[in-house]
Amino acid sequence: MKETNTNSPLVAGGDKLKLAIQKSGRLHDDSIRLLKECGIDISNGVNKLKAEASNFPIEVYFLRDDDIPQYVEDAVADIGFVGENVVYEKKKKVTVTEKLGFGKCRLSIAVRKNEEYTGVQFLAGKKIATSYPVILKDYLKKNNVQAEIHEISGSVEIAPGIGLADAICDLVSSGSTLFMNGLKESESILQSQAVMIQNKNLSAEKQQLINRLLFRIQSVKKAKNNKYILLNAPNNKLAEIIGLLPGMKSPTVLPLAEEGWSSVHSVLNENDFWEIIEQLKAAGAQGILVVPIEKMIV
Ligand code: ATP
Ligand code: ZN
Repeated sequence: MKETNTNSPLVAGGDKLKLAIQKSGRLHDDSIRLLKECGIDISNGVNKLKAEASNFPIEVYFLRDDDIPQYVEDAVADIGFVGENVVYEKKKKVTVTEKLGFGKCRLSIAVRKNEEYTGVQFLAGKKIATSYPVILKDYLKKNNVQAEIHEISGSVEIAPGIGLADAICDLVSSGSTLFMNGLKESESILQSQAVMIQNKNLSAEKQQLINRLLFRIQSVKKAKNNKYILLNAPNNKLAEIIGLLPGMKSPTVLPLAEEGWSSVHSVLNENDFWEIIEQLKAAGAQGILVVPIEKMIV
């Protein structure tokens, strides 16, 4: 059943889309940046509980990341930006709508550096400290491992050092925190990034606003994954060079002032980027310029 808490200071009327983002922490700045790239400016009032955008019907609530799935399930917020790790741990009834491309990390099991880790059965009978007991329990069950889960809310990485646990299950990005605490990553159990979640019972009007926002988010994401490329090519190599360029449709070819040369413009995916640049150079392309794309509408 859909319910709203009328005592909450967060409840507001109107047909604005209500978005919950992290108040402060690793996801805050990237969430604000993404909104800005979508043309939604909420620069005023980030120190408050909520802020309104002047140029899109949206209200932004600043909350602890752990609370966002609950607020979205209860429709206090219509949508939220939060890590997949939190979504799966909280197991709330919300829909994951879109991966947002930031806040990338993994939930991993780590053991003491000098330990000989032989596989997941190593964990049998061991004590594992974590802030993610739900995800860890599912993982252990799936792998038929009986271990003791010790739930702690912060500084999980010090648990083996002070004899509180034999292993930990925690978020990792570079691995340097593990290293500094004499631990090594032994098993990665979840790849995570920030996602957009939404309430399951939204009105058609709200869904329309979400679709408008999603369209902008997808255009920003596509632009980030692509580069605009300009190069000069001798006309006798044009066919070969054009053949190397995937492009959105087909490349733009313009004659240069210098006889026998053309300028070729196209779009390249970040993943194929270096390989194609090398092939273009080998095929005779010169003066290659690569520029970022701000928005990409396809
Ligand atoms: P809050 O005060 O909102 O509860 P927090 O301390 O729980 O904040 P942060 O450390 O700011 O949370 O992390 C927020 C999210 O950032 C994580 O849930 C995860 O999705 C993501 N994240 C990305 N990289 C890392 C990392 N190396 N360690 C921890 N979280 C990471
Ligand atoms: Zn948190």
